[in-house]
Amino acid sequence: MRDVIELRWDPTLREWIMVSNVRERRPWQTSGQCPFCFKDRKAEEGKGEDVLILPNKYPMLVPTPPKPKKRHPFFRVRRSFGECKVIVETPSHDIEDLDQLPASTIAKVFKAVAKDMSSYSNVKWARYYLLFRNKGKEIGVSLIHPHSQVYILPYIPVKIKRELRSSEEYFKNTGACLFCNILRAEEEDGRRILVKSGSWSAFMPYYAHWPFEVHIYPRRHIQLLTELNSDELFELAKVIKSVLCGMNTVLNKSMPYMMVLHQAPLKGQYRSYHLHIEIYGALRPSGELKYLAGMEQGGGNFTFDSDPEENAVLLREAIKKCDGGPFESKKGD
Ligand code: ZN
Ligand code: ZN
Ligand code: FE
Repeated sequence: MRDVIELRWDPTLREWIMVSNVRERRPWQTSGQCPFCFKDRKAEEGKGEDVLILPNKYPMLVPTPPKPKKRHPFFRVRRSFGECKVIVETPSHDIEDLDQLPASTIAKVFKAVAKDMSSYSNVKWARYYLLFRNKGKEIGVSLIHPHSQVYILPYIPVKIKRELRSSEEYFKNTGACLFCNILRAEEEDGRRILVKSGSWSAFMPYYAHWPFEVHIYPRRHIQLLTELNSDELFELAKVIKSVLCGMNTVLNKSMPYMMVLHQAPLKGQYRSYHLHIEIYGALRPSGELKYLAGMEQGGGNFTFDSDPEENAVLLREAIKKCDGGPFESKKGD
């Protein structure tokens, strides 16, 4: 099989497609040895006591990509500059989700990630640091050991581009931050607020796309993960624990989800942007998986098949029941 790793441009939707057939060889975890268990890794990589940041063995992007073949002058292609990494948050192989970790561990993970992110400020091709976490075999997670991922990209992802443009235009028209105003409106309305802390607020947005979608905004108007201080990171960890505990109990089964950090690009000034975290809980209140089908994939617009305010109430009640409610954890902290 020949190796193909390149970026192909879709001129109709104006977006890059990451093409890499090394992914086809990606193993699905059976009962064999876990590549993320710390025992051997630690000596091998020499990094981190509680958190491991490892190169993804089956990357979509690589730091020194081959020059792609031009197949037709009409079509644009680019080298796949980038990096894909795995963040192993804990040596514990068998925990179900991050809400079972102490908040201090989750905060440490963010610190390790922020440190890793800083190392890209001088890397020429690096434009965006996308941190995300997929959970659940329903949405294609191949290894059960808890982990997040990072893609360091040579372009700004489509969704971020849209958000940057919206916030720039909003700032031009009103002199205010779109995200600060969304947060204020959500708190004034209050019906979809899930967890509030001194420096963070978690809510199901008015315009939620997914049945159990949660956005977590810092009150401070900042753009990058590296700008968050230790107190803010620790508080964020507690908010995430509460939200995920709610997610995993609201329907009496483990919630498959995608969690992503939306922040400004690595270089340049994006003062009108406002960092936040988005979590897309993928089960409907009935317990069935929400599929992205014809409407979503073909038309690009989401359908929300229940009442957002009702889903928010369900989730808020579940969060309250999590071991004494927001900010009490199961173990430690
Ligand atoms: Zn493991
Ligand atoms: Zn703001
Ligand atoms: Fe966002």
